[in-house]
Amino acid sequence: MAAEIRVAVAEGVAAFTRAHGRPPGLAVVIIGRDAPSTVYLEQILRGCAKVGIDARFAELEGEATEASIVARIRELNADPSVDGVIVQMPLPRTIRLRSVVDAIDPAKDIDGIHPLNAGLLRLGYDGFLPATAHAAVEILRRSGIEIAGKDAVVIGRSAVVGMPAAFLLVKEDATVTVCHSRTTDLATKVRRADIVVVAAGRPGLVTGAMLKPGAVVVDIGINMVDGRLVGDVDFASAREVASAITPVPGGVGPLTNALLLTHLIRAAEAQAADAQARDEAHPQPVSAG
Ligand code: NAD
Repeated sequence: MAAEIRVAVAEGVAAFTRAHGRPPGLAVVIIGRDAPSTVYLEQILRGCAKVGIDARFAELEGEATEASIVARIRELNADPSVDGVIVQMPLPRTIRLRSVVDAIDPAKDIDGIHPLNAGLLRLGYDGFLPATAHAAVEILRRSGIEIAGKDAVVIGRSAVVGMPAAFLLVKEDATVTVCHSRTTDLATKVRRADIVVVAAGRPGLVTGAMLKPGAVVVDIGINMVDGRLVGDVDFASAREVASAITPVPGGVGPLTNALLLTHLIRAAEAQAADAQARDEAHPQPVSAG
């Protein structure tokens, strides 16, 4: 699925570049190169380079403060060669997430973290979706799994993963239960579900014994256990009971990265169309002489 999307992305990049004389641009604001997420961000940059997207790190110089991060984001908002902005997470403890998120231009917020895009999702409108939640639901759609009328359980209620996944499933007409760290008797809730989406960051949280036979399992979790990358689901026992299950690695992750690039192309096209409409409304005066 990710490979299919990457082919479409490469075509979209080529068409945009032909039409506008420059490739779509992505800026990744990074706060420290030694953070574990840098590996993931470098992977995104490599994926961009392969399809001709102009992607770069916007690295903060010196000590990163809330003001310096916000100032850097504002520069990128104003830069016409940058169509999408993502910010390395998690932020250092001293920096308020809200200030950083609010600073991103919603038109360049390709990972759907700005309150405007979160609000659009909540209301069922078409803003930028958080790429991971988008991937979790897209994997079901592309696999031909029926969502409408099904009982779904989402484990995890974070603003960037769990809740957006739950809203998307409601939009697809599932009946959704959101479970979290204070949920009592998780196993009973999971056992009722036709679709189980897990985003808790707890290895082994869901086992085959908890699943309804034939359930569909989407594992979003990413955990390092004894130097090995694993999800939140005990894959060996769950695959015996589930009718379909996503592996970690090689499941939601690659699809997330590919979808993020489709968001970038959409952002680039929308901003180019806006710029053109502005030019037509206020043509530049022809200079005399
Ligand atoms: P988070 O820590 O913000 O949220 C975790 C959620 O899980 C919380 O709502 C918490 O209430 C719930 N939870 C924790 N322990 C639980 C338990 N024992 N029972 C039930 N619920 C429990 O994390 P996040 O940012 O939402 O990420 C979740 C997971 O998804 C992490 O493993 C993260 O690495 C992974 N992730 C994957 C991708 C991807 O592309 N595949 C992208 C982002 C995050």
